[in-house]
Amino acid sequence: MKNIANKLSNEEYEKNFAELRPPLTKNSAVAEANRCLYCYDSPCMKACPTHIDVSTFIKKIATDNLLGSARTIFKSNWVPLTCAKACPVEELCEGACVYVEKGEKPIEIGRLQRFVIEDYFNSDMLQLFTQENKNGKSVGVIGSGPSGLACGAELSLLGYDVKIYEANEIPGGLNTWGIAPYKLRRADSLKEVEYIKNLGVEISTGVRVGDTISFEEICNKHDAVFVGIGLGDATRLKVPGEELTGVVDALDFIEKVKNEKWVDVNVGKRVAVIGAGNTSIDVVTEAKRLGAEQVYIIYRRGIDDMSAYDFEYELAKSDEVIFHFKTMPKKIIGEKFVEGIECVKIELGERNEKGKREINVVPNSEFILPVDMVIKAVGQNINNNFLNDVEGIKIENGKVVVDTETYQTGNNKVFAGGDCINGGKEVVNAAYDGKIAAQGIDKYLENE
Ligand SMILES: Cc1cc2nc3c(=O)[nH]c(=O)nc-3n(C[C@H](O)[C@H](O)[C@H](O)COP(=O)(O)OP(=O)(O)OC[C@H]3O[C@@H](n4cnc5c(N)ncnc54)[C@H](O)[C@@H]3O)c2cc1C
Repeated sequence: MKNIANKLSNEEYEKNFAELRPPLTKNSAVAEANRCLYCYDSPCMKACPTHIDVSTFIKKIATDNLLGSARTIFKSNWVPLTCAKACPVEELCEGACVYVEKGEKPIEIGRLQRFVIEDYFNSDMLQLFTQENKNGKSVGVIGSGPSGLACGAELSLLGYDVKIYEANEIPGGLNTWGIAPYKLRRADSLKEVEYIKNLGVEISTGVRVGDTISFEEICNKHDAVFVGIGLGDATRLKVPGEELTGVVDALDFIEKVKNEKWVDVNVGKRVAVIGAGNTSIDVVTEAKRLGAEQVYIIYRRGIDDMSAYDFEYELAKSDEVIFHFKTMPKKIIGEKFVEGIECVKIELGERNEKGKREINVVPNSEFILPVDMVIKAVGQNINNNFLNDVEGIKIENGKVVVDTETYQTGNNKVFAGGDCINGGKEVVNAAYDGKIAAQGIDKYLENE
């Protein structure tokens, strides 16, 4: 990079990456729990993709039964600390709280869940569940993200031997490698991984299926297989200059940030991020917190078309991010290093059959933004090549096709869940998929 942003002091980095939602004290947790109306129809529970019995776990906080509360949470969700800290609660449980309808502050469900799970992880971690006797069957799980972890935990309790094969050296999937550190630190993700290992799940890291070991070998070794491989690398922009030094993939950048050695992460003085999804917002906010002086989001559609949530948009605005809506990159400028990005303005036309508005380039609207770094955040490619020729497995629009009730693929022995079947949602969806797929696997193997 030609112009690297000045490094900050350790104190400044720690302040910039401090948690957005700090923990509750015991007194404030009990007081908050006592505000819960224990609604007869629990809209919060319905809004949670894992259907945690929210009002019950909250009631147990109010009666000082924290172990019982933890049990209620884990029963539905095997990665509850990550979800407590990183779920878009405004869109899910807290957004559905009846207090919102009354125009009042919703119950802080995320922070209450965090209070319970942190209390549990900081305790002797008494066994919360009875594990069924070993049934002599084994399941291979590919990927240790939330879907793989949830599937493994559930199957282990049901008496299966579970082995997770993970390509990375450090397990946890995007919980460990992707979620912004001001929401979730790596140590939190690894606590959940340890907990699941303590349930008897084996995790073999540094093993890439389709490379280190073939998918066929995994299928031969186990009675059933769960595929929870998430998505792959960032999608290419396909504009000239993409190969210049200073053009990076969002996930590569985020991975470096997640190492939490902020001083080692080089960021440009002026940074352009392409795309306006939640990943783009994470990247601009992270770049700003690392010391970038000016950060831009370049997005070819309008504000209403952004897939980023409103609260993420507000966060970026509070970090003084400049948004260029209806703008598209045409060329990245520079000889060896990025020196600028040439953009063109867009006029949006009619909506097509997918509901997306047509993109029309405004003639002679080119302009140049001088930048030192371009971060690509326009989506992720699919990473399931090793499944291409597997009998019965169907891949549509890059997503592995599964039965919506059992998560079984067209190959009876193979199940799948998480981002690789939904194209990229949230941790809580992956956690749910993994659990339900485990139940599908159990049913299938019972009948075998
Ligand atoms: C930058 C970013 C930020 C996000 N922030 C949030 C957030 O704040 N809140 C939220 O709820 N969601 C967030 N998400 C979404 C969330 O992280 C995902 O929906 C979730 O992690 C999907 O879980 P998964 O188990 O399907 O896949 P992943 O978490 O991607 O895990 C897949 C695992 O499979 C491994 N793997 C892949 N291929 C192979 C192979 N061939 N062999 C062995 N292992 C393999 C990978 O190394 C990885 O560990 C974010 C996503 C991104 C990209």
